[in-house]
Amino acid sequence: MSLLGLTYVYKNEELSVEAFKEYRLNKGVVCKKCGSQQHYWLMSKQQFQCVDCRFRTTLRSGTVLQGSKLPYSYFFIAVNLLTKQGNRLTLDDFQKHTGHKYYEPLWEFLNKLKINLDEKERTLILSTYSDVLGKRFHSGLITDNVLPLKPEFELVSVQELEHVAAR
Ligand SMILES: [Zn+2]
Repeated sequence: MSLLGLTYVYKNEELSVEAFKEYRLNKGVVCKKCGSQQHYWLMSKQQFQCVDCRFRTTLRSGTVLQGSKLPYSYFFIAVNLLTKQGNRLTLDDFQKHTGHKYYEPLWEFLNKLKINLDEKERTLILSTYSDVLGKRFHSGLITDNVLPLKPEFELVSVQELEHVAAR
């Protein structure tokens, strides 16, 4: 199994946003203004809103992705590689898997994840992603092992994933 194939399933931005949102909800979103943990998801703004004081929290705020502009899919690509290779994962490798042109933002991104996410957290993140996939395709059948190789390093569309799920 080629390593690049391992990344395929995580290259969808829409599912990555959904999975990141679920991950945050599982961990509990805390309102910065009033401390409440009751939030709902404001679809139109793509933000959480506090049930008690209506203060809004962006999806990245207060997480390891705060301040980063890189796609959410990079988060899952990185975490998947980190679970497979541990902190030996190199920046070169990560760059290969994302296809991202610039070194510097990736460097900061990857280091942050290496430092802040322990093994347990990485596992939780990936299982949240599989749950979201499973819900979307009504099966848990898309795994690393059934993925086609994608020569280009582009993000993958939901349709392409659906196609894989249907096989
Ligand atoms: Zn609040």
